[in-house]
Amino acid sequence: MFGPPGSGKGTYASRLSGKLNTPHISTGDLVRYEIKNQTEMGKCINDYSARGTLVPDSTICQLLQKRISQPDCTKGFILDGFPRTIPQAQELEKICATDLVINLDVPDTVIIERLSTRLTCRNCGAIYNERSLKPRTEGRCDKCEGHLYKREDDRPNIIQERLQVYRKQTQPLLEYYHKKNQVRNITNKQADVPPEKIVEEIINLIQSERN
Ligand code: ADP
Repeated sequence: MFGPPGSGKGTYASRLSGKLNTPHISTGDLVRYEIKNQTEMGKCINDYSARGTLVPDSTICQLLQKRISQPDCTKGFILDGFPRTIPQAQELEKICATDLVINLDVPDTVIIERLSTRLTCRNCGAIYNERSLKPRTEGRCDKCEGHLYKREDDRPNIIQERLQVYRKQTQPLLEYYHKKNQVRNITNKQADVPPEKIVEEIINLIQSERN
């Protein structure tokens, strides 16, 4: 799942995961898990995440390797937030083949609106929105009743930094996957389109690729 911060990678990947019975791997969630549990790695990467910059390739690849080696990943997985640089894509290629790159094409205005009103579950990482995707009970996760919070990096100046990092370091990857003819675009110009509608579009796209 490819696209700028706030384009919906995590929101759609988590729903696709249930529908396709395939694990959803978010490297952002892996990073936040290490930070929350104050592991040795968590202490080293905290600053990158808080500033909205990328964690070093070697560290993120190590985290990904560890997750992919779990038994639930043997038949495949949905990647969200990885790869984000050319070296990461090259590393991924050594581990496994990619089937499809779903590129979420969303304008900056929508991204800023979404991220500044986004709520995240501190326990399971589920994503909500104060305006367009409210939880059933205010402040509580529908899935696990965990506490909802605003991510540190969802503040306006950090959002701008993340968008710049995306353009400079991650967007060039699209060319890498275009050359493999694996990029498929999903365009969404509005902030409040129900996630289910986009997920349906993605599933149709995957099915048409299979045929
Ligand atoms: P976003 O909403 O910006 O897509 P994520 O939740 O995917 O955010 O990631 C949060 C932070 O975790 C990033 O700003 C970065 O510091 C770190 N991170 C996540 N994935 C990667 C990656 N593949 N390479 C480097 N850093 C990463």
